[in-house]
Amino acid sequence: MLDEIKRSIQAFETVLDEIPEIRYAGDPVLRQVTNLTTLKEGMEIGGKMKNVLLKYRNITGWGRGFAAPQIGEDKSVFITFVDDQVEVFINPNITEKSDKTNFYKELCMSVGVMSADVERPDWIVMEWMDEKGSTRSEKFDGFKARLYQHEVAHLRGRLNLDDASPGGIEYAIFDPLKEKLRDTR
Ligand SMILES: [Zn+2]
Repeated sequence: MLDEIKRSIQAFETVLDEIPEIRYAGDPVLRQVTNLTTLKEGMEIGGKMKNVLLKYRNITGWGRGFAAPQIGEDKSVFITFVDDQVEVFINPNITEKSDKTNFYKELCMSVGVMSADVERPDWIVMEWMDEKGSTRSEKFDGFKARLYQHEVAHLRGRLNLDDASPGGIEYAIFDPLKEKLRDTR
């Protein structure tokens, strides 16, 4: 276990050296409720976030979502990296969610080497402005529902640590790419 923790901390040190833009738990910007933004500004911030996320992925091999407060921007926008594509979500809002929930060990670029096992709804309906400026509303389940809920929480000033199940915070020494949604803790 010690070797795995060391490896994880070494990767984190490289991130700290090479990507100074990232903000970490303890930074007040991560605790603000973000403001609505425009298509133009949302896409500009999205572009900055994309550079950071791609650099991060190069170092660690993971990282599938990133929200504006994580680079110090107090605006409602997040991006995702899914199926080799970056997508920008502007002013997202979750309008419906399932009663049924699942569990997943979430990592966060603003939390570093710790993971949090968080219980969240199975599916959500999310409304947002897409990259062309159209208002969209769609139902998502599975991993996307999980990812979008984590990112929207950032825009409301919450981190995965805040929503961790009791006893669910641990050193992230598992392979995040092999992590699966679970019905029970
Ligand atoms: Zn996060």
